[in-house]
Amino acid sequence: KATLPSFLKAHKLKLTGTDVPMPLASWEELETRFKVGSWLFKNLQKWGWEEPTAIQRGAMSVMLENRDLLAGAPTGSGKTLAFLLPLIHHLKNPAKDGFRAVIVSPTRELAQQIYEQLRRLSEGRRFRICVLTKATESTLKQDPALRKKYDILITTPLRLVHAIEQEELELDNVRHLVLDEADRLLEQGFLEQTDAILAACSHPELRKALFSATLPAGVEEMAKTFMVDECRVIVGTKDG
Ligand code: ADP
Ligand code: MG
Repeated sequence: KATLPSFLKAHKLKLTGTDVPMPLASWEELETRFKVGSWLFKNLQKWGWEEPTAIQRGAMSVMLENRDLLAGAPTGSGKTLAFLLPLIHHLKNPAKDGFRAVIVSPTRELAQQIYEQLRRLSEGRRFRICVLTKATESTLKQDPALRKKYDILITTPLRLVHAIEQEELELDNVRHLVLDEADRLLEQGFLEQTDAILAACSHPELRKALFSATLPAGVEEMAKTFMVDECRVIVGTKDG
């Protein structure tokens, strides 16, 4: 059996933080170790992917153990699934408790792609997912009762801040906040929006995860303002 250091080296994984959960050795550990529901596991199997990617190994175990996470891995390495699966696992079932998870993405197109993966992965469970757009924003504004029916919100940062300012959303029940493509969020001036978003996501048990292709100083700074005792999972490039 491979030792931990050689396992990490083989996957170019770097883990930092206190008591960072062990990365996944295989997909099967989702069921055996984390009790991920067999329905969710089956949906995952439909993709036909034999092995988790490196970031999926490191990030999923951290999120499944409910720790804050800073994750860095190159574009195309499967970061979307790395956060969607733990998210669905934690939400368990649709509930009429209002938004319980928020995913912030730099563009509408990426938000839509996340939505599509989430739909496939949650097939068979009727989670209510809202991609925030001008249109859905105005629907939420007109029909406050609708806000309670949703489980998951996927949004660009500016749209989210606008909806918060207009009091069109209630985010006090949000337990999971994911910032995707954080380096690109930052390029859009995201640091200035963090205060409003964190103030709105006021639940004391809010867990945060930040995913990024690169980790410039600004992303580190952003992580510092957001995270508590976070685990860092970084997938190196060929050169290190
Ligand atoms: P990133 O956000 O890191 O840029 P994506 O989440 O968009 O990457 O995934 C890139 C591609 O890899 C997608 O087409 C996705 O469906 C695919 N993918 C994700 N996980 C796996 C896996 N475990 N095995 C094979 N392909 C995967
Ligand atoms: Mg991505």
